[in-house]
Amino acid sequence: MPRDARDVPEVAQDWVLSDPPERPEEACGVFGIYAPGEDVARLTYFGLHALQHRGQESAGIAVADGHTLTVTKDLGLVPQVFKEADLVSLQGDLAIGHTRYSTTGSSSRWDNAQPMISTIGPNAIALAHNGNLINTLDLRDHLKDNGIRFRSTTDSEVMTTLVDHFTQLHGSIRGGIRETMKLIRGAYSVVMMSEEALYAFRDPYGVRPLVLGTLPNGWVVSSETCGLDIIGAEFVREVAPGEMLKVSAAGLESEQAVPAEKPSLCVFEFIYFARPDSVFDDCSVYEARTRLGAAIARSAPADADLVIGVPDSGVPAAVGFARESGIPFGEGLVKNRYVGRTFISPSQYLRQQGIRLKLNPLRHIIGGKRLIVVDDSIVRGNTSRKLVDLLREAGAAEVHMRITSPPVKWPCFFGIDTDTQEQLIASSKSVEEVRAFIGADSLAYLSVEDMMDAIGRSADRHCVACFTGEYPLEIPESMRRGKLSLEHVG
Ligand code: SF4
Repeated sequence: MPRDARDVPEVAQDWVLSDPPERPEEACGVFGIYAPGEDVARLTYFGLHALQHRGQESAGIAVADGHTLTVTKDLGLVPQVFKEADLVSLQGDLAIGHTRYSTTGSSSRWDNAQPMISTIGPNAIALAHNGNLINTLDLRDHLKDNGIRFRSTTDSEVMTTLVDHFTQLHGSIRGGIRETMKLIRGAYSVVMMSEEALYAFRDPYGVRPLVLGTLPNGWVVSSETCGLDIIGAEFVREVAPGEMLKVSAAGLESEQAVPAEKPSLCVFEFIYFARPDSVFDDCSVYEARTRLGAAIARSAPADADLVIGVPDSGVPAAVGFARESGIPFGEGLVKNRYVGRTFISPSQYLRQQGIRLKLNPLRHIIGGKRLIVVDDSIVRGNTSRKLVDLLREAGAAEVHMRITSPPVKWPCFFGIDTDTQEQLIASSKSVEEVRAFIGADSLAYLSVEDMMDAIGRSADRHCVACFTGEYPLEIPESMRRGKLSLEHVG
């Protein structure tokens, strides 16, 4: 029987440092492991630690021992949610875990934290999801018309409910997942478990990453390879678009549950989301970022004394810019990690400090210098404007912004919170108008072609829709109009 390891806690204060979002916000991180005899909860904890950058609002781990499936989840960072006593109590042969950044549903609700748990007759399943479905509203309405009730406001719960429903209809969880994958549309990289088996499946476009690794006595799936590295798992391959995996006492089984479509891995994984030590499709994220920096050094050079990067993703790109241009690289900004998602509300005075809570300039490094500042993207422009102010206050003589992606003009519907189109500064302003808004001495972006050349990939094999407006899947009009979340209709 399933059980939640904790009573539902009081909802924590839902304050976050910034209003939504000044730059693309991460989606979620998922991790799954089948390794009888190992401390699977502890291994999942460390896997989630490595994936913490993908989501900092809630964390959860589900563990099963063949008979009982237990879920522990809460709002907060992985080490805030899990203490030693929690991990000791989570014993079993298999586990899944999740770190969440909300893209549908209210962020600060315990019900929206994952893994989601559902019962299928006497049995239980738990599910954790990275991505965003684009037909959730239709599916949810249909299920509600059929008398199915929902606890949370996420597309992940709709998916869990569908798997549950079709599993009962077809008599097998694999059949339940297969039928669910035929109905759901959008981006999903999912880890799921019953009391006895681990499952993983990925949307037919492969928008969000998912990799498979191996341990001496088990198998691991993770959003990124850094989740394998931290526990000493060996990378095997990517989970293929449209593929479903099952790992149980019978070993690893794979099937092409739905036909693969045009490959569309999100290009922002290379630019910003993924950890620099991760590798996708044989491409090192760190090296891709240094090449992006070198590319913009070639396409938009500037006279300057020092190249600095905006942490974290701008730093390897700044290294690449410096190498290509011959201008020295320096650390000019220090990041206060994770402060943006703390649940401790700052005083009014601290709120007024704005970006200083996140970034601190190194005055003795940048004072009097003409700076090249390399960043990954500009979304609304407010953060870039505050950054330019901060650098000038710290003594910078000139600030030349170099962005290692094209202007973000279109919203994301696949699990990345880039806000509505009207709020994207580049959707209505020219490059010169954006430069004037942020107050930089100069501003340049990469073109889509230069960006893809630097990454070493073809735009045909990636989603680049937030730059071009050409989405790999047709977006329903209701979503296009207002990026409706379930909060607005439920
Ligand atoms: S729209 Fe942009 S952020 Fe969203 S999946 Fe496509 S490239 Fe990534």
